[in-house]
Amino acid sequence: MKFTFSPVERADSVPAEKWFDWTWQLQSALKSVNDFEKNFQLADFERKAFEAGSEIFNIRCTPYYAALASKNNPHDPVRRILLPHERELFDPKQAQLDPLGERKSENSPVRRIVHRYSDRVLFLVTDICSVYCRYCTRKHFTGADQAFLKTDEYEEALKYIRQHTGIREVILSGGDPLTISDAKIDRVLSDLRKIDHVEIIRIGSRMPVVAPMRVTDDLVRILKKHKPVFMMTHFNHPRELTAEAAIAVENFVDNGIPVMNQMVLLNGVNNHPAVVQALSRRLLYLRAKPYYMFQCDPSIGTDHLRTSIDNSLQIQRELWGHLSGLAMPQLSVDIPDGGGKAYYAPQFEVERNEAGRKFVGWDGVESEYINPDASETRIPIDAEVYFEEWENLKSAKKL
Ligand code: SF4
Repeated sequence: MKFTFSPVERADSVPAEKWFDWTWQLQSALKSVNDFEKNFQLADFERKAFEAGSEIFNIRCTPYYAALASKNNPHDPVRRILLPHERELFDPKQAQLDPLGERKSENSPVRRIVHRYSDRVLFLVTDICSVYCRYCTRKHFTGADQAFLKTDEYEEALKYIRQHTGIREVILSGGDPLTISDAKIDRVLSDLRKIDHVEIIRIGSRMPVVAPMRVTDDLVRILKKHKPVFMMTHFNHPRELTAEAAIAVENFVDNGIPVMNQMVLLNGVNNHPAVVQALSRRLLYLRAKPYYMFQCDPSIGTDHLRTSIDNSLQIQRELWGHLSGLAMPQLSVDIPDGGGKAYYAPQFEVERNEAGRKFVGWDGVESEYINPDASETRIPIDAEVYFEEWENLKSAKKL
């Protein structure tokens, strides 16, 4: 099926030149209960969340993204992502301010750098987002109005990356890195590209979802100049793939910037295989790879948005075999307290012994895989060429 993507309905009162200007979208973001009341018929549970004031995670939404949500139905999936719920305030089953353990001293060697995995670091270039997603996992940092790093923080972070020669990937994150200006993005990427051991740069952003007009030709030219740069988007629902978002995604891939999507499974938003397949197939059609399907972290105030792991596994199990490998995102749980990622895959093995393994496949085919003789196992004759590289990768965090 050839998919089509519909534009978001723009309010008559806003001229197109403003609506399609990303800086206008940021400056005109809805923040107060009065702003939201002009756009939505608020439910009691939403109004009570606004009344909690500073007790609740920051609230902000671009006019574009607000226009995607239902005005009248508080249970609308997109609305559940952007509007606060009184459930954020009470009776938590689990409520962690830092579920990924990013603030632990061993993972946060200097300000604005998270070094959890051996050869990758997160570089938190801003704490600002244009929409504060209710499921955000980084509520300990995001939305504290610190904006772009101060000069000393920036220099300190760059120095850390420079000095740690095991770092191969830098992931610009935040907050949302695409809320900063083109000039600043260009500067950060230029400085990173001057560091010889940095191979890959990723940018994690919700802007292609909540303000796709941010993806201007100028921005794309900058990213292309500093290749290889990967764009990590966060589409969670097929309705977020509008005509505007489709243009943004295609602008990246047409210019050699691969797009990988990281969705979060969210209760009442996308926790059904029909919704996940719809999102994944449309993304793939736009040449964006559905990469991760994350279990929602037990970040403070997210109980009502989290699915159970059993619910997530059931969704994955139902999708398996029907959705191609290209379209299938990897189900992953971040072990709370910064335990790293745990991946899930449906279990099809029913028996194992030295000779091999027996399986019952996704559609009931029973068969076995018989191992070759262990004595036949040999190391490739040229493996040695890569030994040093491999050893360096394994000890990357110590370099
Ligand atoms: S854009 Fe990302 S960092 Fe910002 S609120 Fe949403 S999930 Fe959190």
